[in-house]
Parts: sequence; structure tokens; C-alpha cells
Amino acid sequence: MIITLEPDASSETQRNVEAFASRFPGVKLRLHTFEGANHRVVEIHLIGTPQVMQTIPDREVATIPGVRGVVRVSTKYRLLGRHDSKMTGYRFDYNGVSFDEKQVHIFSGLCAVDTPQHVEETMRALQDNGIVTTRMGAYKPRTSPYEFQGLGKDCLPWVFELAGKYGVKVIAMEVTDARHVGEIERALESTGNPTGVMLQVGTRNAQNFELLRALGQQKRFPVLFKRGMGITLEESLNACEYVASEGNSNIVFCLRGVKTQLGEPHRNLVDFAHVPVVRRLTRLPVCVDPSHSVGRMDAAPDGLPDIFHVIGQGVIAGASMVLVDVHPDPKTALCDGPQALGLDKLPFLVKYVTTIRKAYESLTTVSS
Ligand code: PEP
Ligand code: MN
Repeated sequence: MIITLEPDASSETQRNVEAFASRFPGVKLRLHTFEGANHRVVEIHLIGTPQVMQTIPDREVATIPGVRGVVRVSTKYRLLGRHDSKMTGYRFDYNGVSFDEKQVHIFSGLCAVDTPQHVEETMRALQDNGIVTTRMGAYKPRTSPYEFQGLGKDCLPWVFELAGKYGVKVIAMEVTDARHVGEIERALESTGNPTGVMLQVGTRNAQNFELLRALGQQKRFPVLFKRGMGITLEESLNACEYVASEGNSNIVFCLRGVKTQLGEPHRNLVDFAHVPVVRRLTRLPVCVDPSHSVGRMDAAPDGLPDIFHVIGQGVIAGASMVLVDVHPDPKTALCDGPQALGLDKLPFLVKYVTTIRKAYESLTTVSS
């Protein structure tokens, strides 16, 4: 059961709900606080066996002064689920950037960090195009152990410093092991926190439950969760719930295509038709990753590469974030060069995303 308090509700309301819940044996309380730009909203989640939960009279809870709403939830992804169309979407602010349904952020950057020169050229180009969010792969989960595995923790200090130098506020960075979080934290401290990091769970780790729990146990960094490429959407949503169940609901859910030969000639079968589905089933902002979905730079007869066409599909469906591989010299990239856009494509990328987002806002009830 989720009990939502009125915005900025008093601590007395919270105590009254807690006292009410204490009448039901074995029911545990978990508090979720959402700090918005202007208000603080508290949700109190009551967790117990179905037998006990059905004895709780929700009408009585709703009459406690300061309670705004009460929703009974199913056992599946109970924290992330929308459960009721009137429930508002999750939003969070991180390092000066807001993540919600009201805007779309372009996270364009290197699939794999290679040289300081390439990182600097990329960061400078982002700044020139007014982009403050990027992706930078330091820990790369590769299909073969003989492929480039990423520079790991050694590159973190200079990547973070260069991000700070060019005003980049959030870097999406995949972690494949819980110890990488400590490495990121130490590198940020040692460089004076010049930027922020969003921890990315790659598709290969979508059901690595220990990693998911570890990312949920820390609250410093938000999490970008990529759906599993070979499991159902339902299984991915349940896996993502592991992060929230440990206490961190600052999550963006990312679609990146699913593995099947039926997607050929694309690298994966593009699944951006699931953007509205994830938004309906959960309260999470949704990201699309056109680069890992399409995997190549071929263009349609209209001159637009397939990557742009699927970005359009994601944005017109209400995505809040687009994760795109770019590289100053795609031919020499050590990972996924064939799907990387050159930096010269950034102005068009910004124009394209902005134009389509405006169309989306003009055609739906969402406006910025
Ligand atoms: C990536 O974004 O670099 C990546 C490896 O993506 P995925 O986990 O979706 O394959
Ligand atoms: Mn990649």
C-alpha cells in the first residue's frame, strides 16, 4: 500500500500514519521522499503479507489529515509501478539536472573512453552545442576477453576534470561490479567533484541482482537501468525494482533494442514502441539508446541515418533521455565505431531532438 502525503506535509502527519500502521502486526514501513524544485513529497509504503495487508482499511487511512491518496499495489514492481493512472511520475534532480517527463536530455558521448584528446574534443563540442550531459565508458563489458576492455579507474580523474572544464554536469557511466562505485566516488573526491555520474547498468547485467542491490543501497548516484536484451519487458521491470527496493528510486529506464536475428540489418530489434508502455506501467522517466539498437550508420533515401529515425521514434513517444554514441574520429574508436556519430552531427542532433520534442508536446497533454 502506498500512502502519499500532501506536498510539504508536517512530521505530525507522518507520525499519525506510522501510529495507524503500528496497529497491524508485521507490517513494515518504508519512507520515500521526493525532493522537487519547489516541494517535498513523502510517500509511506506499507509492506506486509497479503493476508495482513487486506485487513488494512484504506478508507480510514485516507481520512488522516495531511494524507493525499492511498493506492493498493500489486506485488510486482510495487515501488516503480504506476498502479493508478493518477499517480504522478517520479522526478529527481541531480547535480543541477532534472529528470522527469517534462524534458528530454541528450547524453551524447564516447562508448569507450580512449584518449584524453578525444575526451577533450568531445567535451568541447558538447559545450559548443549547449549539451551538459554525456556518456563515457570506462568499464566495458565486451563479448570477447581479447577486445578492448576499457581504461577502467585510471581514466576517471582526467575524464571528470575534462567534464568539469567544459561544464558537463552528468556522465552516464556503466559499472559492471559494485566496487566500481567506490572507484568513481574516490576519483570524484580526489578531483574536487567537478561533475556528476549516473551509474549505468548494462543490458548484460540487467539480472545481476547483487549489482542491482548494491546500486540501490547507495543514494549518491542515480541509476540508468538498461533492459535485458534477451528477457521480457516484465522481467526487466522486476529486475529494475531490485534497485528501488533497496532504497534508491532515482532511476531512468533505458530501452536499447532486443536480441533477435529478426532485427537485421540492425544490431538489435528496435523496441521504442515500448516507451509509452514503460511510462504506463511505471513512474520512471524513459531513455532510448538508438546507437546500440541500430548499430550502424546507413541512411534512408531521405538522407537521415536510421539512428536519427529511431531517435525520432523514441522522442515522439515521450522519452526523457537519449543516449547516443559520438566520437571525434569514429574510424579509430576502440569500441562500437560503426554506430558513432561524428561530432559535426551534434548541431543537427540538437535541432532534430528539439523539433520532435516540440511536436510531441504540441500533440499530447505533456508540456514543458
Ligand atoms: C553501452 O551503452 O556502452 C553498452 C554496452 O550498452 P548495452 O549494455 O545496451 O549493450
Ligand atoms: Mn557500445
